[in-house]
Amino acid sequence: MRVVCIAFLLLIMLITAAGKATAQETPTPVATGTPRPTPAATPTPRSLLRPGRVWPTPDPSQAHEHFWLARPFAPPAEDDIEYWYPYGSTGAGQYLIHHGVDIGNPMGTPILSVAPGRVIVAGEDLTTTYGLTTNFYGRLVVVELNQRWNDQPVFVLYGHLQTAAVTIGQEIQTGDRIGTVGMAGIALGPHLHLEVRVGKNTYDSVRNPDLWLRPFSGQGLIAGRLIDDKGRTWPEARILIYKAERRDRIWRELYTYVDDPSISPDDAWGENFSIPDLLAGDYVLETKIGNRLETLPVTVRPGEITFVIWQIPADGSSLPSPTPRAPRPTYPPPMRRPLPML
Ligand SMILES: [Zn+2]
Repeated sequence: MRVVCIAFLLLIMLITAAGKATAQETPTPVATGTPRPTPAATPTPRSLLRPGRVWPTPDPSQAHEHFWLARPFAPPAEDDIEYWYPYGSTGAGQYLIHHGVDIGNPMGTPILSVAPGRVIVAGEDLTTTYGLTTNFYGRLVVVELNQRWNDQPVFVLYGHLQTAAVTIGQEIQTGDRIGTVGMAGIALGPHLHLEVRVGKNTYDSVRNPDLWLRPFSGQGLIAGRLIDDKGRTWPEARILIYKAERRDRIWRELYTYVDDPSISPDDAWGENFSIPDLLAGDYVLETKIGNRLETLPVTVRPGEITFVIWQIPADGSSLPSPTPRAPRPTYPPPMRRPLPML
């Protein structure tokens, strides 16, 4: 929320990411303060959605929360996940697919280990590719956790660091210092990019960190599966979130995961969207598929995932009418948002 940047810089950096595998990014001082969205960062609403692949269907009633990860910052540092650029999204087609989550903090803010494990990567990625290209995370730390998931290793990646405070082979505990916040590699401003990888330490083995990070006291999260009547995902569908008592004000918005093989749902939940860091209470989700406007009331409980399976047919014919709601002159425009951080 602190990055003030200009649109062409984003363009240049994306071109650099795609075309110059060994590009040297020179950290540039970035102004901090109230973020100002740029015109180029305002997404165009997508009115035509096509269903994606048939989605995995683990039974969420059998799933249990697996909040293995502590938060990577201590007060007074910012600890909220930047919700406008969630895991699996592209910011409405404008940015690279996000394989993790971002937490913004000033350069040099200490980053703390989120779980016990052993450091397997610490340093720059100039010669070894851990992301889309080399010099993608700039300076990173990868920790293989002591705990395994269904007999598979679990990795946590900390990216864009200014400094790394650990070395390969080091055993670390929750809360140990990993390094400091930077903007190394492909980053538009100082922030931590956090990834969870299951099975292999590769770019396409990621899972949504929202579902692994322990909620703050009094907060929970919503996760869900937005699918059509044939079990196919609705990719990059825009979902608006309202507090139940404030239907006149968009509380948050997000996009469901892209339809891309590098983005997988959680093995336990099978979600294609999540909304972290929500105070317990009643909310209403709203989405528009074609001309069909649907709403869904959801209750968030502290320390839990509220999981919803939200099925909207492709032809709009086989479901009951959407929840009645007050008419609105026009569908609200996208929220103005700061530049995402990659
Ligand atoms: Zn990121």
